[in-house]
Amino acid sequence: MKAELISVGTELLMGQIVDTNSQWLSQQLSAMGIDVYYKETVGDNPQRMRDTIAQALTRSDIIITTGGLGPTEDDITKETVSELMGEELVLHEESLRAIIENFARRSRPMAESNKKQAYMPKGGIVLPNYRGTAPGCILEKDGKRAIVLPGPPTEMKHMFTTSVVPYLESISDSVLKSAYVRISGIGESTVAEMLGELIHNQTNPTLATYASISDVTVRITAKCKKVEDADAILTPMVEKVLAILGDSVYSTCGESLPEVIAKLLTERKETLALAESCTGGMVSSMLIDIPGSSAFLMEGLVTYSNQAKSRLLDIPIDMIELHGAVSEEVARAMAEGVRKNAGTDYGLSITGIAGPDGGTEEKPVGLVYIGCADKNGTEVLKLSSGRSNRSSNRISAALQALNLLRKKILLNG
Ligand code: ATP
Ligand code: MG
Repeated sequence: MKAELISVGTELLMGQIVDTNSQWLSQQLSAMGIDVYYKETVGDNPQRMRDTIAQALTRSDIIITTGGLGPTEDDITKETVSELMGEELVLHEESLRAIIENFARRSRPMAESNKKQAYMPKGGIVLPNYRGTAPGCILEKDGKRAIVLPGPPTEMKHMFTTSVVPYLESISDSVLKSAYVRISGIGESTVAEMLGELIHNQTNPTLATYASISDVTVRITAKCKKVEDADAILTPMVEKVLAILGDSVYSTCGESLPEVIAKLLTERKETLALAESCTGGMVSSMLIDIPGSSAFLMEGLVTYSNQAKSRLLDIPIDMIELHGAVSEEVARAMAEGVRKNAGTDYGLSITGIAGPDGGTEEKPVGLVYIGCADKNGTEVLKLSSGRSNRSSNRISAALQALNLLRKKILLNG
């Protein structure tokens, strides 16, 4: 099955909003084993929308539109798709009732124009909207399928998950299930090399690697007749991948690195304090995003200047000046200082040159030292990304710091 995504909205073309819908849908479809061959964006212009949708229907089996289901005259997606698929729009009583109830629940007067949202293609499948007013729909004709979804991401995602996924599964002759193995500390090409033989010989399940700024995911997808059969195909492959990648794997069930840290520290009833320089509180923020983080995170200092490193972490200024703030010695002293002052089990520190400027030949942009202190001593990790992008250097440093901490915690049993 080949799919094509069409994002509708002049705001998207003008760059006022970013098209996150199609990115999210692409991820969902690829995880289901449905190939997306094209995606495009079109404004609210009737002729251009007609041309775009008509072209998509000639070359793809499934087209999915998002946006343009609102009550106003220029919301014309449903009208255009229905016309092209030869469907008439008729009042759908159930949708009208749901829209009236939605307004009543929010004590808002309903405009006459909202009634337009309850007109649905006569032979189509109506998709209820539990997060807003406009229902979506699915139209089928001559083996082609058009799935029409609302623009607001929360409405679209909920409708996709609750109604479209079961529909897509019902029309597929096989089911797909994926497992995700997440890896930190080694790059995508190394992962691909290490898994070379498995990737080369893949049939079912299939293996694919994906890289983000500081983390690599291996997606393992099984194809079978019944979903109950998938685990028997997936589990042995997940185990093979784990045996090859070892402790670089931080999760096999979709958890993020901060979530893994939160779980490890909470289970062990251990505590953490942070001293961050170039990451400016990012590690704190990633951990505080997780509910219950107060159980293990005692404090997070942003010690940006030499004075702050000295005053808050008891590092002699002379020592910082001797080695430089971005040095193995200072990273070590920061981790030990914050651990001692906060009285925690672990002290984690980050100091580096995030860029784009400020590097020297000896200390280039992207150079970061991460320190992790515990009762057994302090380990310092040196990173040299070679990148001058400030934002990616900072995110990468924060995640690598969490990964170093993860390994330390696991070493302690
Ligand atoms: P409404 O009934 O709210 O008008 P709609 O189905 O007509 O919904 P649009 O008017 O196209 O949808 O978009 C409504 C809002 O949804 C946009 O202002 C934007 O915030 C968000 N949105 C629409 N399309 C996208 C997209 N492709 N990616 C991310 N957000 C989007
Ligand atoms: Mg609209």
